[in-house]
Amino acid sequence: MSGLAIASLPLGGLCLVERRRHADDRGEFARLWSADALSAHGFPFGPVQVNHSITRNRGTIRGLHYQAPPHTETRLVSCTRGEIYDVAVDLRPDSPTFLQWHAERLSPENGRALLIPEGFAHGFQTLTDDCEIVYCHSRPYVAEAETGVAFDDPALSIPWPLPPTVVSDRDRGHAPLAARTQRLPAAVRCRHCEAALRLQLVDLGRQPSSNAYLSAATLDAPETTHPLRAYVCERCWLVQTEDFAAPTDLFAHDYAYFSSTSFTWSKHAAAYTAMIVDRLGLSRDSFVVELASNDGYLLRHFVALGIPCLGIEPTASTAAAAEAVGVPTRREFFTERLGAELAAQGRRADLVIGNNVFAHVPDINDFTRGLAALLAPGGTITLEFPSLRILVEKTLFDTIYHEHYSYLSLAATERIFRSVGLRVFDVEEYATHGGSLRVYGCHADDPRPTTARVATMLGAEQAAGLQSPVAYAGFQQRVGAIRDELVAFLEGERAAGRRVAAYGAAAKGNTLLNFAGITPDLLPYVCDAAPSKQGLFLPGSRIPIHAPEHLAADRPDTVLILAWNLAGEIKQQLAPRLPTNTRYVVAVPRMADV
Ligand SMILES: [Zn+2]
Repeated sequence: MSGLAIASLPLGGLCLVERRRHADDRGEFARLWSADALSAHGFPFGPVQVNHSITRNRGTIRGLHYQAPPHTETRLVSCTRGEIYDVAVDLRPDSPTFLQWHAERLSPENGRALLIPEGFAHGFQTLTDDCEIVYCHSRPYVAEAETGVAFDDPALSIPWPLPPTVVSDRDRGHAPLAARTQRLPAAVRCRHCEAALRLQLVDLGRQPSSNAYLSAATLDAPETTHPLRAYVCERCWLVQTEDFAAPTDLFAHDYAYFSSTSFTWSKHAAAYTAMIVDRLGLSRDSFVVELASNDGYLLRHFVALGIPCLGIEPTASTAAAAEAVGVPTRREFFTERLGAELAAQGRRADLVIGNNVFAHVPDINDFTRGLAALLAPGGTITLEFPSLRILVEKTLFDTIYHEHYSYLSLAATERIFRSVGLRVFDVEEYATHGGSLRVYGCHADDPRPTTARVATMLGAEQAAGLQSPVAYAGFQQRVGAIRDELVAFLEGERAAGRRVAAYGAAAKGNTLLNFAGITPDLLPYVCDAAPSKQGLFLPGSRIPIHAPEHLAADRPDTVLILAWNLAGEIKQQLAPRLPTNTRYVVAVPRMADV
């Protein structure tokens, strides 16, 4: 016998708990908490905090309180002396009982308690003097997250049984719900499985779109910013950002990243081509399609071998550059519709390549259905994207930005593939972007066996805790430490009279600089080899972007390399042009000399 009887109440998840009281001539005994009973009712946690309050005067109202996400908690509220009128309000925007409330009278005599799930506010009025309450909480108290709703909010009209005698100033000061409900976000839902997202990996504050570089003419205009937060889906374990801007806005700029400007990336493309042509035995009879083919950095190698290919690239400037080197290119986003259209034209692909695009599509299900439609029977898909395991392990938080919608593990990718009749049959790990996966896919009924590498990688992800909340805990704190370290470093250099400049105006630099609140007074300029960015300003931080020649002329004491994934290559390029005592540093995964 658990000693507790639990019954569901009409508001989703809210429960009435009754203690079984054992009386004898000494007095009484009752259980306030039972992990087994709660777990059996779908609340599998132990209390991490047990609090206790005494309220002196009858008629006092405490509440209505809750902790804001991600600190939402389940509470068990028991009255152990006196009697209270206990109220729970459903504040979950996606709940069918949103803004409905439920009240119970709780006392030691009736042995009743309320089990209040996450997303509810809680408050009570004392019906007697000297009421004593015991609260069991599933999450610790977080002062900054503590907030509330007014007890007399007109949107609730709770009929408190007594005229309120005592209410704290703080409890009277909560903003009315009517002013807030418009601003309560609809529940963020997983872009793959549509589960509500409740576990937050990191909140990087409000940030502009990372590729929205500013010109001198737009420098004084206000910038559009959106919260930059990453969530973990606790059903399919896809880590993801929220959708804000339409992808057409994000990729329309002509300051796009040109893949060919990176030597490391060009070398990677050449090596990939040689490997895959050999592995799949591709020939002049094959057909290769690359999604987000950029400036033809990769497909030009297939063109050189006489292997028919097609690039799909929505950004006009890079598509034009691809065509200039002989890569046929369709200027479109890849979708299920386009995949089906090419298939209907008899243009199903023996090889579909997606490098750094799978993680960048807002509708990952539509994109994956498109892969299945486009892939010829017996054909192969290869996708490359940064590894979630490495991101979490190394705290590579600056690879998080709005246009980077998904942060993928092999396990999540496998699940997404399976949902459209595809299968992952091989996987490799690469050093690009700090640590990337190359996933090989085929139709589910393809006779090729799945390699042992797939099981090994899935095992490594499991061991890292990626399919539980464990791996994601503490990420925010580590991100804060990296930020503090960078700011302290830049302030130290300034205090020592050493001049610092940055190199690499990439998206990751913007996430880092904007999260750290760094402006030109600490970092006067950044240099970048891409002519399309020179003369512009970084979004948010408004740091001017110069050509690399500026660095040689200015001779700063220290160069902060923002594109840390290319730090070795960049240092090699810069070293012959700068004094030998120039210091080269990166800030992520932590402050270090290159
Ligand atoms: Zn999901």
